[in-house]
Amino acid sequence: MAKKKIIVIGGGFGGVFAAKSLEKLGRGTLDVELVNNNNYFVFQPLLPEVAASSINSADAVVPLRQLLSNVQVRQARVMGIDFAKKTVIVMQGARMTPVELKYDELVMALGTGVDLNRIPGMADHALTMKDLTDAHRLRTHVIGCLETADVTTEAEVKQQLLTFIVAGAGFSGVETAAEVRQLVSRALRYYPNIKPDEIRMYLIEYADRILPTFPADLAEYATTQLRSQGIDVLTGVGTKSATSTGVELTDGRKINSSTIVATIGNGPHPLVSMLGLDMQWGRIKTDRFMRVPGQEHVWALGDAALIPLVDNPQEDPVDYATQTAQFAVREGHQLAGNIFAKLNGKELKPFAYESKGSLASLGMSKAVADVYGIKLSGTFAWLLWRGFYLSFLPGIAAKFRVGMNWILNSIMPPNIVQLRMPPPATRYIHFWKGDKVFEPGMLIDGFYTVINGSFKLTIDNPDTGEHFEKVFGPGEHFGERVLVKSELRTGLVEALEDGLLLFIAQKDFTRFATAFPFLDNYFKEYIEKTFGGADKAFAPGSTNQRKQLAKTR
Ligand SMILES: Cc1cc2nc3c(=O)[nH]c(=O)nc-3n(C[C@H](O)[C@H](O)[C@H](O)COP(=O)(O)OP(=O)(O)OC[C@H]3O[C@@H](n4cnc5c(N)ncnc54)[C@H](O)[C@@H]3O)c2cc1C
Repeated sequence: MAKKKIIVIGGGFGGVFAAKSLEKLGRGTLDVELVNNNNYFVFQPLLPEVAASSINSADAVVPLRQLLSNVQVRQARVMGIDFAKKTVIVMQGARMTPVELKYDELVMALGTGVDLNRIPGMADHALTMKDLTDAHRLRTHVIGCLETADVTTEAEVKQQLLTFIVAGAGFSGVETAAEVRQLVSRALRYYPNIKPDEIRMYLIEYADRILPTFPADLAEYATTQLRSQGIDVLTGVGTKSATSTGVELTDGRKINSSTIVATIGNGPHPLVSMLGLDMQWGRIKTDRFMRVPGQEHVWALGDAALIPLVDNPQEDPVDYATQTAQFAVREGHQLAGNIFAKLNGKELKPFAYESKGSLASLGMSKAVADVYGIKLSGTFAWLLWRGFYLSFLPGIAAKFRVGMNWILNSIMPPNIVQLRMPPPATRYIHFWKGDKVFEPGMLIDGFYTVINGSFKLTIDNPDTGEHFEKVFGPGEHFGERVLVKSELRTGLVEALEDGLLLFIAQKDFTRFATAFPFLDNYFKEYIEKTFGGADKAFAPGSTNQRKQLAKTR
């Protein structure tokens, strides 16, 4: 008899544990394949430690092929599902071509997405904390801020660089804030021009307390602990908007900062929300057996699924499985059992599980734990936290590597190597009224198009007394002289109101503009018409003037 083909899409906690159990239960009768966009499994609870340099990024992940030795692993991006034809469409290979994979049973474990679009500017300026790249980017960014602050003489800019904001104080927000604070504190001794009291760190939570899934007294302990480490915990207030220079809070306060980490905004996975399945709270509704209603051969689990824990669930999250690794693992085992039972004509079991508790690390060897109803805090809870996650990590090699990282990190100085990750060459940048886009003496960076708001360019030439100014509105642009090369800016551009710019880095803009003769001509004519010629456009860009500006910086 031909083996039944089971495809699992998503190689996180839910997908991996479902695939592992399916392979075990159905050895010889099932052909199990797992599709994931990376060739590794990410242990998300350790991401804040990766961001803080406590763990090397490669050690917080496990290669899927090693973890699932008897499961076929395919590194590919799932682009669609044709439920009628029972096929998954993936993009794969060097040319990223679409391939159709046939299934008998499909397990959906794609996790969730991040949707920050409800807060203006957040999607463009906040760092997220969802996968390995995010953690690595945050670490690089924080170290970059320290490097820049150490050589910055402008007090306002320095303060902005040394202010760190974490939005959202659930598990990941609290742990990220604590770990980043610890990294900064430990790294400071290598930055002689930064004083400890120049560091500002904010943890912002809209609810009236942090760690909403923990008992109130443990959340209170965590708040006190974080404050004692110099983290300003702000509750009952949210983030209203974000720009390249900071955040505005819902109470009207503005905090200037170069670092905004958003652990809020969990939204539906973009692919999942396009499939036309019955969804609630951004999750796929399933029955108690984790089957997707209306799709006979489709199952869902993990963060992507809304799995009822009782027969008649109400509109209350407590009636459903929570979005945690603990639940996803348990769901994986049980879902595998149910698929196996279905294929063998046996009875399916409804999903039922009670959380064994929660643990959250607070940095500085402190944690809070609520395990089997026993509340713990302090160093003992932290040891428990470490012990639990070490035991939870799949594979001996991963346990050993993480254990070694922890030991080395406790006796060695922090790793402050900055492996740069340049920002996207084309990106949106939000500005508040009065913000400077650039000013004389800054290195030329790129070309700007106004999406909304208005921006004023002022050029003053002290040599000739010439003064030039122009206001740019939506659809207009500035910075086009990057096409003709120059090292330093000679004009000042300020936002006259809150606004949004599309930025294209110099190299990319120059390549693009010069590739199209009509664009090249357009910009040359534009410079002629607007500034009265290239010379005027560069006022006061004489070599002497630029040298002078460079000296004063
Ligand atoms: C920073 C952080 C800290 C956390 N701490 C804890 C904790 O302490 N305790 C706890 O219990 N839980 C914690 N969680 C939550 C926990 O990690 C999640 O509940 C769990 O990972 C959910 O598992 P999942 O399999 O549903 O989704 P995920 O683990 O997110 O896995 C989804 C997988 O699908 C893949 N994928 C997505 N789209 C595609 C596509 N189009 N094609 C192919 N593959 C795709 C992804 O790469 C990923 O591998 C934390 C989460 C974060 C982000």
